[in-house]
Amino acid sequence: MKKISVLGSTGSIGTQTLEVVRQNPDKLKVTAMSAGKNVDLFEKQVREFMPAMAVMGDEDAAKDLKDRLSDLPSVKVLSGMDGMLEMASDPGSDIMVTAIVGMIGIRPTIAAIESGKDIALANKETLVCAGHIIMPLAKKMGVKILPVDSEHSAIFQSLQGSPSERIARIILTCSGGPFRGMKKEDLAKKTCEDALKHPNWNMGRKITIDSATLVNKGLEVMEASWLFGVETDRVCVTIHPQSVLHSAVEYVDGAVIGQMGTPDMKLPINYALFYPDRMPMNAQKLDLFSVGALTFEKPDTDTFRGLALAIKAAKTGGTMPTVFNAANEEAVARFLDHKIGFLDIYDDIEKAMDDHRVIQNPSVDEILEAEKNARGAF
Ligand code: NDP
Repeated sequence: MKKISVLGSTGSIGTQTLEVVRQNPDKLKVTAMSAGKNVDLFEKQVREFMPAMAVMGDEDAAKDLKDRLSDLPSVKVLSGMDGMLEMASDPGSDIMVTAIVGMIGIRPTIAAIESGKDIALANKETLVCAGHIIMPLAKKMGVKILPVDSEHSAIFQSLQGSPSERIARIILTCSGGPFRGMKKEDLAKKTCEDALKHPNWNMGRKITIDSATLVNKGLEVMEASWLFGVETDRVCVTIHPQSVLHSAVEYVDGAVIGQMGTPDMKLPINYALFYPDRMPMNAQKLDLFSVGALTFEKPDTDTFRGLALAIKAAKTGGTMPTVFNAANEEAVARFLDHKIGFLDIYDDIEKAMDDHRVIQNPSVDEILEAEKNARGAF
């Protein structure tokens, strides 16, 4: 029985992780879980999975949960960052799924690695901002970082059995989001309701907006670069509207090996939880006859500036990816609140990057300080 902890169990990745656990009751056991504020759903999850530890980021939500769970003395209820850190370093699980959204995932991920847990990594912000800390630490501790992001899982699957030093390029596919093919004048009129209608994937709100701006693809370029030790110039973003080829690796001999499937996040979650084995999954299978044709296009980075800004941040390095990410998180929150327009997201990120003085090789404290300053500018 593999014991897993789920950081962010009430979100899109978290609930799908629990679905994978439901399908494998004899192989997976949830021993700890955390959420932010959603007490109603979290209470149901705790009652179903009966973890030893349940953490809520929000203090009031944690108090409420504690009252509601007074009939379950075996569940230890904790709160805030201290609670998440205690959960992450607790020896009661073998692997932690980082399904939390945002840079708040950095410290718990480090704590889990330091305690020797493998990481099923969905929380890409952690690698974007602190890849230079996380990857060497994981190597030192001998723990695996197993990608959950579908593209990175596809790359990871394409690397099995082949030496990673023989990678020529990574082909990182991208659906193009709901606004593919549009120009700036079209984008200026788009609302958050338009941006939340992703053509292929059903995801959390923040990442869905990031898919529309191509910021998500930029974060994924940085994530791929850290995970697979390949410079950003050798990560080639390719628009593939069908989302069937989840990404691929081109090797030095010209062979391209990729992974295909339906757009279902349970597949990469399943792979990460059972790696290096594969377990059957109760899900729709890929029907190539109904797909028909697969198409590939170059991204339009003049219009969708999120990708270009991300590459610039990655090349600058140090605290710049943190500022890129924090400014984006702020801008997306304001866009979701109808306070700014779609194209303002790019302007806000660019301004934050222009105003920032970079610190190279930052510590966690310096990363969090850069984040605070970038957010404070809004
Ligand atoms: P969601 O917004 O759906 O879920 C986020 C989770 O984090 C929820 O459980 C939420 O709790 C919790 N959370 C949010 N803020 C806090 C906080 N301050 N303290 C404690 N917990 C908090 O996000 P997604 O599942 O979409 O994304 C999670 C991560 O996975 C992101 O990094 C994303 O980029 C990545 N990812 C997501 C994919 C997807 O398909 N959704 C695909 C690939 C990667 P609550 O709801 O209770 O407040």
